[in-house]
Amino acid sequence: MQNLTVLGSTGSIGTSTLDVVSRHPDKYRVVALTANSQVDLLFRQCVQFKPAYAVLLDEVAASRLRALLKEATLGTEVLCGVEALAAVCVLPEVDAVMAAIVGAAGLRPTLAAAHAGKKILLANKETLVMAGNVFMDAVRASGSALLPIDSEHNAIFQALPRGYDGNMKGSGVRRILLTASGGPFRNTPIDELKHVTPEQACAHPNWSMGRKISVDSASMMNKGLEVIEAHWLFNAPACDIQVVIHPQSVIHSLVEYIDGSVIAQLGNPDMRIPIAYGLAYPERIDSGVASLDLFKVATLDFVEPDFKRFPCLALAYQALRTAGTAPTLLNAANEMAVAAFLDQKIPFLAIPQVIESVLNTLPVYAVSCLDDVLGADTEARSAAQLQIQRLLK
Ligand code: NDP
Repeated sequence: MQNLTVLGSTGSIGTSTLDVVSRHPDKYRVVALTANSQVDLLFRQCVQFKPAYAVLLDEVAASRLRALLKEATLGTEVLCGVEALAAVCVLPEVDAVMAAIVGAAGLRPTLAAAHAGKKILLANKETLVMAGNVFMDAVRASGSALLPIDSEHNAIFQALPRGYDGNMKGSGVRRILLTASGGPFRNTPIDELKHVTPEQACAHPNWSMGRKISVDSASMMNKGLEVIEAHWLFNAPACDIQVVIHPQSVIHSLVEYIDGSVIAQLGNPDMRIPIAYGLAYPERIDSGVASLDLFKVATLDFVEPDFKRFPCLALAYQALRTAGTAPTLLNAANEMAVAAFLDQKIPFLAIPQVIESVLNTLPVYAVSCLDDVLGADTEARSAAQLQIQRLLK
């Protein structure tokens, strides 16, 4: 029996995780569930999974959940606030943590899980983008098992030799081929991108995801963040990570070896596959996902990414090459710009402008501890806010 904390249980990854867990009541037990403010869904999850703890960030929401649980005579204890997110990750009875909070808010609890040596199922890519070396140092020091949940990184993990230790050359790996769908605007005339709405940006052709990552997919910043994520997970330099646009999203990524062999992982685009893999590793369990029908897929296409159409991808490569706090600045500026776009304050094409101005204005420092990361994150958010205000005028 594996005891789980699910951070961000009310989100897209969180609900998919609970769907897989519900298929295997003999293997997984939910100890804690967390959300930002979605009380009703969190309550329904508490009724179904009967966790010992439920965490909400909002005190009003937490009081409402307490009342609902009392009425239902359920014994789940409701905690509130940022500290509580980390607290439910380090409980002695917890074996594994699904890190599925969106954005920078996921960093502290995920890092706490790493320090405590828990098995980490990492969906929150922002943790690695913001604080790659701090997080990986914590994972190595505590001996945490780190399982990538992002479908691409999960595919790469599956295609690498078992027990891969971060030595690409020593393992005979030539490069990593990171696939990308190209999002909803892959073929939209660039001129029309000026006027796209949040709804259009969130209408991903293949994947059903939260709004922030959907916008990131439309701008291809998501792929940029994933390039940085792959760098930290697999110790791969930027020059050995090739992004490949593959509109069908059937091949989830590939690893090329020095003998010319290329190993890919395929499947239907459904996050329950990597989630089930991460939960059961090194075994396999049913994820609830239908068989891949290759005859229906029939054709697989591959295209090189166009950095002019997708400047966010170029900015992410630039930040990775610059290193230090540059990826932290990139991530923070992107979160601010995406939130402003979703609030209809700035147009879609202003997202890379905001990020570029932050990267060009702020100094970059080496990162030696979490405070370096948090300092850069705060500075970048202020600089991005200024830039967004300018665009509003
Ligand atoms: P969603 O927006 O669907 O869900 C986010 C979850 O985090 C919700 O439970 C939400 O609670 C909670 N949350 C939001 N803000 C905060 C906060 N400030 N503090 C604590 N909790 C918070 O996101 P996704 O599930 O799509 O994505 C989650 C992570 O997984 C992201 O990092 C994303 O990049 C990554 N990922 C997602 C994929 C996908 O297919 N969706 C694929 C690969 C990676 P509430 O519901 O109450 O707002």
